[in-house]
Amino acid sequence: MANKIPRVPVREQDPAVRATNFEEVSYGYNAEEAMLEASRCIQCKKPRCVEQCPVSIQIPQFINAVNNGDFLAAAKVIAQDSLLPSVCGRVCPQETQCEGSCILGVKGEPVSIGKLERFVGDWGHENQIDLSEKAPANGMKVAVIGSGPAGLAAAADLAKLGYGVTIFEALHRAGGVLEYGIPEFRLPKNAIVAKEVENVKKLGVKIETDVVVGRTVTIDELMDEEGYQAVFVGSGAGLPRFMNIPGENLNAVVSANEFLTRANLMKAFDSTYDTPLYVGQRVAVVGGGNVAMDAVRTAKRLGAEASIVYRRAEKELPARLEEVHHAKEEGIRFEMLTNPVEVIGDADGWVTALRCVRMELGEPDASGRRRPVEVPGSEFDIPCDVAIMALGTSPNPLISTTTEGLETNRWGGLIADESGVTTRPGVFAGGDAVTGAATVILAMGAGRTAAKAIDAYLQGK
Ligand SMILES: Cc1cc2nc3c(=O)[nH]c(=O)nc-3n(C[C@H](O)[C@H](O)[C@H](O)COP(=O)(O)OP(=O)(O)OC[C@H]3O[C@@H](n4cnc5c(N)ncnc54)[C@H](O)[C@@H]3O)c2cc1C
Ligand code: SF4
Repeated sequence: MANKIPRVPVREQDPAVRATNFEEVSYGYNAEEAMLEASRCIQCKKPRCVEQCPVSIQIPQFINAVNNGDFLAAAKVIAQDSLLPSVCGRVCPQETQCEGSCILGVKGEPVSIGKLERFVGDWGHENQIDLSEKAPANGMKVAVIGSGPAGLAAAADLAKLGYGVTIFEALHRAGGVLEYGIPEFRLPKNAIVAKEVENVKKLGVKIETDVVVGRTVTIDELMDEEGYQAVFVGSGAGLPRFMNIPGENLNAVVSANEFLTRANLMKAFDSTYDTPLYVGQRVAVVGGGNVAMDAVRTAKRLGAEASIVYRRAEKELPARLEEVHHAKEEGIRFEMLTNPVEVIGDADGWVTALRCVRMELGEPDASGRRRPVEVPGSEFDIPCDVAIMALGTSPNPLISTTTEGLETNRWGGLIADESGVTTRPGVFAGGDAVTGAATVILAMGAGRTAAKAIDAYLQGK
């Protein structure tokens, strides 16, 4: 039986070698491996994997095409719902979505849906497949703010419907977190992100970089003076949070966002660039999500002894399982059930240690996870030269404070209904700007939903 075939393992760079370079960790499947893995799918009549995909990719159909060796057909199936297959195949938390509900996972190992998606996406780029089918221009203009996954997905769907779409992006490169946050060793920029952005442009979407909406131009100006009939705000959640503990303003206490932006967008890891990035000998990263894993693994690659400091237990780490596994293989130290209470510095104002307390798990809290409780008298120091705070982010208030009638909730998220309709007529929003920091695929799903709502609004449906 097809499902007796064991899951095809993926080839990866040796951990000791990759911990010293920024090349991609995983090599992905080749055609033979992809076809063998695809043959494991039993083509469920009611595919649970699709129900769990936020953009509803027709998973069994594309896997069937891979199984038949028809990679073009597979690419066409995926392109109906996603223009970022190489990105999603690399960074989606498949274990809690499609793969987490794959029927084969009940008694064995689920189909490697993410690796198959990555294979198809990469095959499309290598073979320069053009999947840009679109309707004739309908003469209406929509502005999209932010070129992250939410903005790109909304722009692609609107362009396919015939709208003239322009994305306004504050940074000098398009892609949002895919470009400035997630490191090269997980998601190559020129080889993958730029190519998937290019596919969105092939649909006719224009991207204007270095435009900070709220400063360079406002939403009101875009709508009242520049002829945009609707606006989608996909500006993300790029404002880092801190712990508010003593010593947090010492030199070399940085947010993970700043650290990763310097490394990725400003190419500090590349010695031919001038961007400074101080790592010292020892780096402590506070947090347990994907952002924390990316920061700690980047610090390790830049030559530091690097540790994760997380206040809950290992099974509660919110990061993707694969990232935690890779981090461990690369020699990252994990200080679990540990909470910083103070940052200690020297006479010149530089960090020397994180003062921490040990935690134990108490009763479940509102999130259902057991609440970490301080162990009395357990204070100890973790020596470090750099402390990186990876504690989550909030939306930047620039857009809401410069747009008439656009309301936010108490933590700064834009108020929008499930279709992305905001409190300002004609303005829609989705992704991290609405939900707070979440995932690439949820942001894409929100962008697609809002595109439908924008179309309905503009067509008077
Ligand atoms: C380091 C890191 C690692 C992550 N790892 C994963 C992972 O492995 N898997 C996963 O699924 N998710 C991961 N995430 C989360 C995921 O990347 C985000 O949920 C997703 O990118 C949100 O998409 P978005 O389009 O809403 O916002 P973003 O990707 O943040 O894009 C928003 C864009 O809007 C631009 N912008 C903001 N304000 C303005 C303005 N005023 N004018 C013009 N442009 C503006 C920003 O510059 C940015 O380019 C990670 C996040 C980080 C930070
Ligand atoms: S649930 Fe698993 S086996 Fe069933 S169609 Fe989806 S990938 Fe294939």
